[in-house]
Amino acid sequence: MSRKSAAMSSGDIKLRRVLLIPSSGMGHFVPFVRLATALSDRRISISLLAFRPTVSNAESILLSSLPSSLLLDFPLKPLDPSLFPSADPFFRQMEAIRRSAHLLPSLISTYSPAFSSLIVDVAIASSFLPLAVAENIPCFVLFTSSASMLALNSVFHSLPYPTGADVNIAGGVLKIPNSSLPQPLHDPNHLFRTQFMENGRALTQANGIIANTFFSMEPEILAALNSGEVITGLPPVIALGPLFPVKKQPSLASPALRWLDEQPEKSVMYVSFGSRTAMSREQIRELGAGLEMSGCRFFWVVKSAKVDREEAAEIVELLGEGYVKRVEGRGLVVKEWVEQEVVLGHRAVAGFLSHCGWNSVMEAAAAGVR
Ligand code: UDP
Repeated sequence: MSRKSAAMSSGDIKLRRVLLIPSSGMGHFVPFVRLATALSDRRISISLLAFRPTVSNAESILLSSLPSSLLLDFPLKPLDPSLFPSADPFFRQMEAIRRSAHLLPSLISTYSPAFSSLIVDVAIASSFLPLAVAENIPCFVLFTSSASMLALNSVFHSLPYPTGADVNIAGGVLKIPNSSLPQPLHDPNHLFRTQFMENGRALTQANGIIANTFFSMEPEILAALNSGEVITGLPPVIALGPLFPVKKQPSLASPALRWLDEQPEKSVMYVSFGSRTAMSREQIRELGAGLEMSGCRFFWVVKSAKVDREEAAEIVELLGEGYVKRVEGRGLVVKEWVEQEVVLGHRAVAGFLSHCGWNSVMEAAAAGVR
């Protein structure tokens, strides 16, 4: 019997004092803050590890909005610049976190009462799960994407490379065409692929996997994950989604919300591709032309840089002189962080044109917006 299963099953574990360990990027950070709030509401004592410096302004702003009593600072050693110089800054940050994981036991050893369990982001799981096993602290993984992606993550490390073939999981419960695999998984030198493989391989060391999904969204693959049909040895997968937004007063000063207030009920298409998907200038112009020609009302959040700190171009530069004026009244274009959960819950919003980041999918489902 493994040390984990000998020590405790996931049902036996008492959540007295839990340390949450997010990684990097709002798509990972937002669900962690929601989980922290949901657990705190159930009177569980929570701390959230705050890796600093952050990559984006959005992460810093979110951190500074949280009570300092919740946060446990973890100063991060920057990654050697010669390592993965051209990699995505969010993946580089995940790598820096993974390489600093060994500092955690001494950081938390002074805290009393001691942490009774950890919840770690899947993106950094392979560095923290062995530590938790060694320290005999129960450790859960928060999987921030879909159950289908979890299934792929669990098996991917065991597939031959290059496969060239479609991926067939749990005897055909999930079939992923080769061409639909995330592009970096085709590249043996891609940092994301390395992290994905290592994290996937480590999942069996967890006491449980919390997934931000719900049963009726992905019934077959959730059942397959929990019956051992995907892989044997996976701990229980707990579908806890959608993780609900932290309740707060919407910012009254937001011109975007004031604009939405003036629109008829269920008339506006909300267009946003998440926190880190930058479009090229050509794509922005094409989409802008499409939205203009559609005649629909729309609210569009434009992003031209992956990291918000590097956003430099003005809307007029991206969409050309006159665009904003031409669509005035029925189209609003902004280039800033918006409170997406508030936008999706607004009575004027009828649809969501999304890149289908998993948090966006869950938020749209929770708000009843398609
Ligand atoms: N988000 C937001 N305002 C923005 C852009 C993004 O509140 O202007 C939030 C969104 O609600 C979601 C997260 O950032 O919770 C983005 O996660 P998702 O998985 O949708 O996409 P990613 O950014 O990871 O590609």
